[in-house]
Order: sequence, then C-alpha cells, then structure tokens
Amino acid sequence: MTARSAPSTQHSALLPTVAIIGRPNVGKSTLFNRILGHRSAIVDDVPGVTRDRNYAEASFRGRPFRLVDTGGLDPSANEGMLALIRHQTQVAIAEADVLIFVMDGRDGVTPTDEAVVSLLRGIKKPVYYAVNKIDTAKAEPLVADFYRLGLDHLYPVSAEHGIGVDDVLEAVYPHLPQEPPEGSLADVPRVAIVGRPNVGKSTLVNAVLGQDRCVVSDIPGTTRDPIDSLATLDGRQYIFTDTAGIRRRGRIERGVEGYSVARSLRALGRSDVAVLLLDAEEGLTEQDTKIAGLVLRQGRACILLVNKWDLRAHEAGAKQAYEADLHRRFSFLTWAPVLYASALKPDSLRPLFPLIEQVVASFTNRIPTGPLNQFFQSVLESHPLPMRKGRITKTARSAFITQVATKPPVFALFVGHPEGITAAYLRFLENRLREQFPLIGTPVRILVRKK
Ligand code: GDP
Ligand code: GDP
Repeated sequence: MTARSAPSTQHSALLPTVAIIGRPNVGKSTLFNRILGHRSAIVDDVPGVTRDRNYAEASFRGRPFRLVDTGGLDPSANEGMLALIRHQTQVAIAEADVLIFVMDGRDGVTPTDEAVVSLLRGIKKPVYYAVNKIDTAKAEPLVADFYRLGLDHLYPVSAEHGIGVDDVLEAVYPHLPQEPPEGSLADVPRVAIVGRPNVGKSTLVNAVLGQDRCVVSDIPGTTRDPIDSLATLDGRQYIFTDTAGIRRRGRIERGVEGYSVARSLRALGRSDVAVLLLDAEEGLTEQDTKIAGLVLRQGRACILLVNKWDLRAHEAGAKQAYEADLHRRFSFLTWAPVLYASALKPDSLRPLFPLIEQVVASFTNRIPTGPLNQFFQSVLESHPLPMRKGRITKTARSAFITQVATKPPVFALFVGHPEGITAAYLRFLENRLREQFPLIGTPVRILVRKK
C-alpha cells in the first residue's frame, strides 16, 4: 500500500463545472437538456420530474465538463424568492467554474434578476447571461430591455428551439480545459470521504493511506480542508479527498466554517463517489441526513460506511436495528450500499475497495441502446405507459429510451405524450432499470422528451 499527495497540476485533470442558475420557469432545465441531449426536441412539462438539481457530464467540441442545473427552487416556499435565489447563486459561485445566468425574455428584467446581476458583478469567475425564449426574429426586440443592465456577455437564446445555445457554449469553451492525455489521472476514481465531525474520516483516510498524514484528534473539526491523496491499492489507483467538517450546508458564510462548507461542496463536486461515514455508536442524526442530502443533490454515487462498528459488533440485533434506522431516515438513498466497518481495523475496510470499483463502474457505465430497449419493450408489455385518456395508442408502443449522459447515468425517455408520464411511473421505471442493469450505488435520472 503506497500513497502520495497528488501534485497540484493533476487537479487540472478534474472536470470544470458549469452551473445554470436563474429564477424558476426561465428555462433552466430546458437549457440543461438542450446542452446534454444532443439537439433533440425537449418537453419538460411533467410536474415534479425535473424539479431537483440535475448534474451530468456533457461536452462541447470534444471538451468535457460537468453541467449543473440548479433547479429546485420552490416558488411557494416561505422564504422569499430573493433569499432562495441568492442562496442558489452563492452555492453556484462556490462550486462552479463558469456560471450561466438565465433570464426570461418575455418577462423583461425583474427586480430579482437585477439583484442577482449585482451579486454576480463582483465575482472573479466567468458569468454568461442568457436571455431565453427569444424563439423568433420577431421576439428579438425583447432583448433590448436587458441591455440596460450593462452586461458584457449577453446572449439571446431559445433553449426550446436550440437557437443561440451554441453561442453561449462557444463563449464557455475557452474556460474548458482540453481533455487530459491518456495515462493521466483522468480515469482514476475520485472518492470523497464525507461525514460529520468525529465520525472517523481522518482515521479512515489514514488507515487507507497507511500513514499518519491527516490530523486525527478528539477535538471536533480539527481537520478542515479537503486534502487530495493518491493511493494505490492492489494495483489500482484512487484519489481520496478528506472533507472534514461539513457542518451547515444551509448558508455559505464567511469564516472558517463557511469556508469548509464551500470546500466540501467543491470536493463532492470533484468526486465520483462519496463514502458517507456514519457513527455506529451515536446512531443517525439530523446532520447525517443533511450531508446525505448534499451528496444526493450533487448527483454523486454513494456508499454508506457505518464506522466504529467495533463498538457494537457484539451487540445482538445491532445490525438489524441500524438497518431499520437507515431505512427510515435515508429513505431517499435506498440505492446506496451499506458497509459496516471500523477505521481502526484495516481488515474490516477490505470490502470497501471492490465496492468502490463496482459503484464507479455503475456511475460511469453507458448502457447500449439495444439492450436498453429490449428491456424497455418488455416493461411496456407488462406495464404500458400511463395514458391520459386510458388508451394505449400506437405512439405509446413506439416509445423508446436511450442513455444520454454518464456520471451519473441520465436516460431520455422519448414518448408521444410526455404529459401522460407521471413521477410514479418514472420511479417504477427506475426500479426496473436497477433490477436489470448494474446501477449499484449510483443515482439515476430519467428525462422525458417528446418524440
Ligand atoms: P426552469 O424552472 O428555469 O428550469 O424552467 P423550465 O426549463 O422548466 O421551463 C419553464 C417553461 O418555459 C416550460 O414550459 C418550457 O417549455 C418553457 N421554455 C423554456 N425554454 C423556452 C424557450 O426557449 N422558448 C419558449 N417559448 N419557452 C421556453
Ligand atoms: P473526523 O473528525 O471525522 O476526521 O474523525 P477522526 O478520524 O478524527 O476520529 C474521531 C475519533 O473517533 C478519534 O478519537 C478516533 O480514534 C475515533 N475513531 C475513528 N474511527 C473509529 C473506529 O472505527 N472505532 C472506534 N472505536 N473509534 C474510532
């Protein structure tokens, strides 16, 4: 077992993140799908389907990047829209390398837009401003209102019709590093070790790396910065990031605590898999649930490692009790495999590495369209697409599915009537996909599109 810190130049091999931000309904997810989905027609009117944040790997002219759709703002939330959007923007500033701020050409400049623009003015990262829903030449005068914001990079686009989207991507392009040469660290799985303070993150990383590199102490929050380390285990390389102290994800604040939240978000964004450590003795807490939510929203693969199991291993029924607790509190993460281990007993950590391999493979895997549709047709036979008028039409039978992105796997379901697809049907389809294909420990997204 050998380890060394990854030299800083190797960090450039990590994918840059491009975040799409903006008020609800301006067309963020339409733009996200447009950029991801290779120019196909898109409909996203299915309620509850694209409301969460979406993450996927995309590329433009051969340069890969990570695309983030920061949806999920609830217009009916108690907090004001302005507060929500400020938060969304601050998270994007913390975790993204390039920002695309989308406004709605039909609405004109709103006070919220103005507030976000002034928030974005001061930042050092590149920001591109898209005025969406400029579908035809006739709509172009709508852009005039936006010129008064005095922005350098203003792009009229129609996300729905794919007009002007390439211009935005051309502008983003220079900020995307070239694909790293083969043999670099690009293919090395990146593992973020996350969990609340004192759960054993540093101990685990030390056990894995075989040397006392991180500061381990009983004082909560002693190690604050993510540290990347390259490890070779059984001939395979891994990059471990130890993100100590995700405390509050609610707000990005100044000071050490806020700094560590930003770094943790960033480390999660740069990883393939999060190993979320839980404390066997203390049981699950609110904070664990929050961190799990963070992992989920980041769209990372996930392994749950119940640490300090040495303290409970001899207790009868301990595992069943813990499992029940997991099921109750982490009901949104049922796809994550669970490992009971002890960072103090390196032997108990052995199963972690094959598990990481499996999970990374699922996260990165591309399922060919052939087998995918064979599977889908058999699903359709037993469970026809739900149709509005209770009729199965020809178009329902000719529906098909294809994988449009990896890391995490994103599938596009092409149907004649997207409005007929319910969130429940998509959940059902996801479960069947998981039964049929190796999708261990990875989130799965299904987009609905009109054929
Ligand atoms: P989000 O809440 O910002 O993610 O917005 P959505 O992508 O869900 O889009 C909100 C609505 O605007 C949907 O009904 C879209 O069909 C519509 N929309 C999105 N882009 C365009 C566009 O370029 N032109 C027009 N006319 N409508 C659009
Ligand atoms: P971090 O804040 O998550 O990095 O946690 P640390 O690695 O600093 O560990 C906090 C405390 O838990 C230290 O006193 C460790 O020795 C102890 N600890 C870590 N892993 C285990 C374990 O598997 N079993 C037991 N009994 N103690 C552990």
